[in-house]
Amino acid sequence: MKTRTLCALVAIVLLSACAKRPPTAGLRLEDSPDRYVDAHFHVSNYAYQGVSLKTLIDRYMGEKIVRSVVMPLPLQQKWDPFEHYAQDRMPPNYYLGPKAELYYYAFADAMIAKEYGALSEADKARVDPMITGFNPMDRYAPQHIERVLLTFPGVFTGIGELTVHKELVSNKIAGDAIAAISSEPVPPDVAEGGKLTLYSAALVSLFDLVAETGLVATLHNDIYETDVKYDGTVVRKSPDVTYERGLEYLCTRSPDAKVIWAHTGLGRFVTPASNHLAIVSHILDACPSWSVDISWDLVQTMIVNPAAGMPSLSEWAGFITRYQDRVLWGSDTVIHSRNKVGAEDQLVRGGPMSVADYQAVADLSRPLWDALGPDVSRKVRVENSVRLFDGARAKVRAWEALHVGDDVWNLAPPSPVTP
Ligand SMILES: [Zn+2]
Repeated sequence: MKTRTLCALVAIVLLSACAKRPPTAGLRLEDSPDRYVDAHFHVSNYAYQGVSLKTLIDRYMGEKIVRSVVMPLPLQQKWDPFEHYAQDRMPPNYYLGPKAELYYYAFADAMIAKEYGALSEADKARVDPMITGFNPMDRYAPQHIERVLLTFPGVFTGIGELTVHKELVSNKIAGDAIAAISSEPVPPDVAEGGKLTLYSAALVSLFDLVAETGLVATLHNDIYETDVKYDGTVVRKSPDVTYERGLEYLCTRSPDAKVIWAHTGLGRFVTPASNHLAIVSHILDACPSWSVDISWDLVQTMIVNPAAGMPSLSEWAGFITRYQDRVLWGSDTVIHSRNKVGAEDQLVRGGPMSVADYQAVADLSRPLWDALGPDVSRKVRVENSVRLFDGARAKVRAWEALHVGDDVWNLAPPSPVTP
């Protein structure tokens, strides 16, 4: 037996033994109502301003946030010299405001991997870095994931947050309009000029690789269609035009991929309709490998303090109790806040968020925890994330060990998928 093959086998045996340890082994997950795993956290903004992993762990997480799923945002806001954003007095670092496009920034993965490698073992156990620098509409995207895992083994647990349909963001992402280049009928979820679709062979092969490697994918896909202009003006909200069928198509095409559907499809412009929880329930029933997160302070406010026509807090509590093993808490904090042009052209510069402000996001959901009771709340705050990401760590390390001899410069192309 070749030495390399032997090493791979030994590693798999060791990793299988590790996988049998209790999911919380070695971690201080006291039975406290004030402990959280942040399953959705952005360590940098759309201009790669943020904080180091070491700063995140030492200053921001403290005792309260026991673990964090760390994602840079996948997209860089282009600072276009001809646009003269804010009359050139201040650069753009958020997607709302500038007209220029967003593009995928692959170097983010190397930045995160380098920092993670320098952490102590105790610190490493507290963060789960995610691969973000790929275009999910590109059939070569799985090769990026493989190259990252092979180049930086022992680091990443998941991919994302990746975006398919997200109000203004999807229109701003650099790429080809599907209708302009397609030699087949345009998928049903593609609006005029649309560049992203849930019915993409690239996305299916990406999720197939997620299933094969054991990675977790965090997916942002609005629950229904909206049309929002670059400056945040809402042109149209269409709660009746949902992406339910597309999401179901994706999960049934790649049924073993572990996916977290972010914010249950809600967001800044996508507020919950009265049938929101029925649609989310339908997706979870159709997609047994999928979970949802209830991240984003805006979303948490909609849950605990709903406006007229939105599901009530007790309806949310009933939904979460029903799916109590498949709902994860997250902050969706972007740690470096945005530059804004305020009233009368006043410039408001962003900066690193304060530790107190970050930790306070978790407090927004207190009325929800009270409604859920201690056992279900602990699952949502801590246990579901720990189980999901500990499982992924063991599987991904085993995949890396098995593929240790693969040549990153000569990977086999993803197998063809016919939708
Ligand atoms: Zn997010």
